[in-house]
Amino acid sequence: MEDHLKRLFGYNQFRPDQKEIIEALLEKKDVVAILPTGAGKSICYQLPALLLPGIAVVVTPLISLMQDQVVSLTKNGLPAVFLNSSLSYGEIQSILQRLDQYKLLYIAPERFADQNLLRCLEQTTVSLFAIDEAHCISQWGHSFRPDYRQLSVLKQRFPQASIVALTATATKEVQTDIIAQLALPNPFVVRASFDRPNLTFRADRRREGMEQLSEFLSKHSGQSGIIYAATRSTVDETHKRLVQQGIAAGKYHAGLSDADRKAAQHDFVHGNCTLMVATVAFGMGIHKPDIRFVVHMDMPRSIEQYYQEVGRAGRDGLAAECLMLYSPKEFKIYEVFSEKIEDAGLRRSTQEKTAKMFSFCKSSYCRRKELLRYFGQAYSEPNCGNCDRCLDDAEQIDISTQAQKILSCVYRLQQKFGIKYVIDVLRGAKTQSIYQNGHDRLSTYDLMSDCTETDLRSWIDLLIQKNYLERTAGEYPILRWTLSSELVTRGVDKVMAVKNTRSKTRLKSDVTYDQGLFAKLAEYRKKLAQEAQVPAFVIFGDRTLIEMARLRPSTREAMMEINGVGPVKWQKYGPAFLGIIASSEVI
Ligand code: ADP
Ligand code: ZN
Repeated sequence: MEDHLKRLFGYNQFRPDQKEIIEALLEKKDVVAILPTGAGKSICYQLPALLLPGIAVVVTPLISLMQDQVVSLTKNGLPAVFLNSSLSYGEIQSILQRLDQYKLLYIAPERFADQNLLRCLEQTTVSLFAIDEAHCISQWGHSFRPDYRQLSVLKQRFPQASIVALTATATKEVQTDIIAQLALPNPFVVRASFDRPNLTFRADRRREGMEQLSEFLSKHSGQSGIIYAATRSTVDETHKRLVQQGIAAGKYHAGLSDADRKAAQHDFVHGNCTLMVATVAFGMGIHKPDIRFVVHMDMPRSIEQYYQEVGRAGRDGLAAECLMLYSPKEFKIYEVFSEKIEDAGLRRSTQEKTAKMFSFCKSSYCRRKELLRYFGQAYSEPNCGNCDRCLDDAEQIDISTQAQKILSCVYRLQQKFGIKYVIDVLRGAKTQSIYQNGHDRLSTYDLMSDCTETDLRSWIDLLIQKNYLERTAGEYPILRWTLSSELVTRGVDKVMAVKNTRSKTRLKSDVTYDQGLFAKLAEYRKKLAQEAQVPAFVIFGDRTLIEMARLRPSTREAMMEINGVGPVKWQKYGPAFLGIIASSEVI
């Protein structure tokens, strides 16, 4: 199996779970594979597709992904083709007549409404159906697509073909739904670790969003990254301000013309433009392994959505950084939206998702641990060493005294007032209601006038999260003591908070290599990519170039040992890269 991997794709070893999935498919079992982005899902169906008799049908929702994958496969000498709305009727018919000449056929889900297509597939041998982004079939997922429901006929109409459903985001609920919707009688289910150790997670309260963004970007200059904003207008605004600051960036949202979007995406994937400001419309199906950061200017609607979006960074396994800016504003907006959902069950699950997202933002625990816990996975390390909460720049400060003041204020207000009022009293606000209620005479009035409202709010949030305070439900939530509040006021429990420091970048590079040589190899790669009009990683990924720069192969054999160099790549590019390595001085 490893020989096939090297011969067809140039890789030396399988990544975790790839081999098991491939073997199951070769044995004609159905498979549900839940693997994080970057785990290497494509090879799981591409390799069996090439080994099994007949054609494999890959269902994927995005045209750009199909085209990239087909280009990439064809470059490797593997016969693949796609069918989508960019082709004319005549072109589609001619492909359908020549299906036996291909090993892989990429199709958009909506095409399955076409009976003619189904008949053509029935007349040929289909080895397997690979259903990418399989969570789209479930309305419990975060991006339900009705077109996917048509796939439920596959098992019945093609009993001899196996089905592999692949996704990077699935809660247990979605997983069960995928199996039910596709009518898979007894699938082999692989649930990989969701951990992405190479991603650094950070979440910061949004204060001056643009300033926070600029500071972050200044540490990532020249690197490729995506900046997500929730609405078209914030995308436009953010993009405009970046351009004003002299920072080149592309933009992408549903309000732009098809041609503009295509061009923006092309420039980003091909490396002509390193920054992309976009709504969530951008990214699904983008195949670009060397994205070094993802910034969220607003909080996403759910942890699934967040994890899918940050998951686009660092797919090559090299370090990448994710920064999310959040504010309660988004939370309130999403709440208002979700009120309009008619189905009561769906409404509740949507609201729960947003609430969990928000509490993730505010949590003072390790980000990785919290994310993995959400996906039902335990993380046993006490410190992941790669999130804002665990890196040593996330200094813990003792806020026990502040907590005592806040709790005693809540108590003196007889546990009858909301957050805003409590903050006003503590900061000595001169409001009419405070005077009317006589609260300006409380001992806690004006007790914390030296603190900002934002700090007070975040401390109160923390007390709620740690269960030292309770916020009641309903339209006018009030703050109340819990059974544990006394532990703080009596000084038994200490309250620690994360000090809000500016994020420091810490790119962990796992190996040392000759960076000058890497730059030379990358430059040559860029030239080749431009000539062939393909993204640079189609030639060689960053990992492969780093390995070349580290190991400095000098013969064909040594070059073929490099991960990412297979026979086809060797033939096309090997000697030229050997030449560059030979002519560069050893440092
Ligand atoms: P996913 O679809 O799971 O997000 P991809 O299939 O796009 O991931 O793979 C991510 C990257 O990892 C691609 O550049 C791919 O070529 C590479 N890759 C996949 N399998 C291996 C492997 N066994 N060894 C090295 N690189 C691999
Ligand atoms: Zn951590």
